[in-house]
Amino acid sequence: MSGGVAWTVGRLVQWTERWFAERGCSDSPRLDAELLLAYALGYDRLGLYLNFRQPLVAGELSRFKTLIRRRAAGEPVAYILGCKEFYGRRFAVNRQVLIPRPDSETLVEAVLTVTGRQGWDRQPVELCELGVGSGALLISLLLSRPGWRGWAVDISPAALAVARGNACNHRVEERISWWQSDWFGSLPEGQRFHCLISNPPYLSGREWEADRSRLGWEPRLALVGGDDGLEAILKIGEAAGQWLHSPGWLLMEVGAGQSQRLKAVDFPGLTLDSVFRDINQIERVLAWRTN
Ligand code: GLN
Repeated sequence: MSGGVAWTVGRLVQWTERWFAERGCSDSPRLDAELLLAYALGYDRLGLYLNFRQPLVAGELSRFKTLIRRRAAGEPVAYILGCKEFYGRRFAVNRQVLIPRPDSETLVEAVLTVTGRQGWDRQPVELCELGVGSGALLISLLLSRPGWRGWAVDISPAALAVARGNACNHRVEERISWWQSDWFGSLPEGQRFHCLISNPPYLSGREWEADRSRLGWEPRLALVGGDDGLEAILKIGEAAGQWLHSPGWLLMEVGAGQSQRLKAVDFPGLTLDSVFRDINQIERVLAWRTN
């Protein structure tokens, strides 16, 4: 990125896309280039396109260089920008929370589907998310269902702070109870929910290790579910029945290939009702109902 020619927005996007691609540091070099340049210039992506011929000034160029160096070192774009789009909305993220994945939109859709079948769209449903992280799932659901109330549970106070900020931005903060708890550990005795959801850590230690250069930026706590990846899923499933009204629902996101194993497991008080596939046709979300 030197020489005498003026760097326009368009040329810089092209150059950066190629630079990322050559280094193999990105699965989506074009998108990353656009997001980072838009951020450096204070535009949204549309603004970037409308200003494709605009030349950059020195301060902008050096700001952008800092960002692309961070990306080239492996830092996820979402952490560099401090936000990530999920289910059509923007959520603040930092290194204390998992970056919401498109796969998890399957969980949002699954909750809307099973509760819709139940006729709960307009009922005052109590929805609890275990391991709320950035809050993207819970907040998306509360925005889709204005009559529902949320319980946000996370072991990490730093994650709860991020979720709370997102809830304030999306104006659902007052509909949520906040609980720092190790799964059900510190929830009030006798509390019952209509719907429990979780995207628990479900990678095995080995899977995490193998993909460490990508996953190592995110909290390990949010990704690794013990040696075989199933520890958290089984722990939640074992206890969930006691925390649900009847009828009640438990929906969990699971890892690729785990649904087979989980179909054979009996959770007390629950029956597996449905399996939902993600955009890649992987069985991604399991929904259990109370017996
Ligand atoms: N889907 C994530 C990944 O493979 C893992 C999320 C999780 O463990 N809950 O990167």
